[in-house]
Amino acid sequence: MALRDDGAAALDWVASYLERVRELPALAQVAPGDVRAALPASAPEHGEEFPAVLQDLDEILLPGITNWQSPRFFAYFSTTGSEPAILADLLAAGLNQVGILWRASPALQELEEVTLAWLAELLGLPDGWHGHLEQGASVATLGALAAAREAKPGHVLASEHAHSSVERACRLLGLELRKVPVDDEFRLRPEALELEGASAVVATVGTTSTTSVDPVAAVVERCASAGVWVHVDAAYAGSAMVCPELRWAFEGIEGVDSLVVNPHKWLLVTQGCSAFWTQRPEELRAAFSLVPEYLRTSDEVVSFSEYSVELGRGFRALKLWTVLRCYGREGLQEAIRKSIALAALFEGWVRDEPGWELCAPRPFSVVCFRREGSDQENEVLLERVNATGEAFLSGTRLNGRFVLRLATGNARQTEDDVGAAWEVLQRCAR
Ligand code: PLP
Repeated sequence: MALRDDGAAALDWVASYLERVRELPALAQVAPGDVRAALPASAPEHGEEFPAVLQDLDEILLPGITNWQSPRFFAYFSTTGSEPAILADLLAAGLNQVGILWRASPALQELEEVTLAWLAELLGLPDGWHGHLEQGASVATLGALAAAREAKPGHVLASEHAHSSVERACRLLGLELRKVPVDDEFRLRPEALELEGASAVVATVGTTSTTSVDPVAAVVERCASAGVWVHVDAAYAGSAMVCPELRWAFEGIEGVDSLVVNPHKWLLVTQGCSAFWTQRPEELRAAFSLVPEYLRTSDEVVSFSEYSVELGRGFRALKLWTVLRCYGREGLQEAIRKSIALAALFEGWVRDEPGWELCAPRPFSVVCFRREGSDQENEVLLERVNATGEAFLSGTRLNGRFVLRLATGNARQTEDDVGAAWEVLQRCAR
């Protein structure tokens, strides 16, 4: 394999893809099984040349790609695999580090430590917390609740709007989850927490449906006296804390036991980069540490594998570090502020247009709205919009009613992109 030539072709493929991604359908326009049917049933007997892979990428796989990189992607949370992160992924693959122990890759562990400290400072967190990277927030929350159970077994409390990863972590750990009601702005009601016999409370800063913010300070205050672990799930909105004007959402954060923020959601890093911090690393280590004979060393360093489900960790820190260096605080703030401004613009259009309604407050970059009419009519509208390929939005249910969600956050998004989404919505509603 000619790495230089094939590598140049692959990089060129990525660059052209990003140049034309806006013109590709935001949501893959294929039926289940289409991609599978176009692929051979078995691997080739003899190795093929790399250009054949690029050809099939274009012809077979690309039609089955939902273009998360498209600025017309407004579903779920809108993300960006930025150019620096893409290149860092390539470098990490070239190095192929397997961080099972500190000595297996000192640079991997120490860059992760330093980068997590940098990020903590950028987000306005206190100094000195243990920080490491996980694959995703689901794994980070699993770790947090395992540590909480280690500290004190009991039930777990989270709002009815907490992410499903909390419920799954509880199921895996054999913990009972009790859902706590929310107020009329979809925020956990701290006075409704039943702390007697509780192990942990999960507060969400930026819930998945509406991006509502649970009152962290009030939760911390109640939990401190009861000795209950507070975990904050800021998977989406945590990245926005690079902007001081948004830090109201982190009020009370200095008192929490653990926190997760996903740079792969809203901080320009490619998928597979979730930042986890805890003030109580001893409990985390007690929950996870298991060092078999064949991994014992005389190194006077605790390896990250003692704090997490994973043994072999990838060089995830490289892409976070690269993004922090290539954007700087200023560049990150600019990206967050731009997404919020675009969401505010869209929100204004919906507010001013008869026949449309806003359905939740908008603290960040997600607008919840609906067209007048039944749930079914709104569901059909969403399907119609997504079938055009011109924009991709998702929906959710609030107080029993179906609502549409438009999430901005892709760094390539412009006013024209948001305008195009609004135009498609109005056209399909007619
Ligand atoms: N927490 C919240 C609030 C989320 O919105 C999500 C995903 O959207 C998750 C957790 C799960 O994140 P991950 O996919 O990184 O496991």
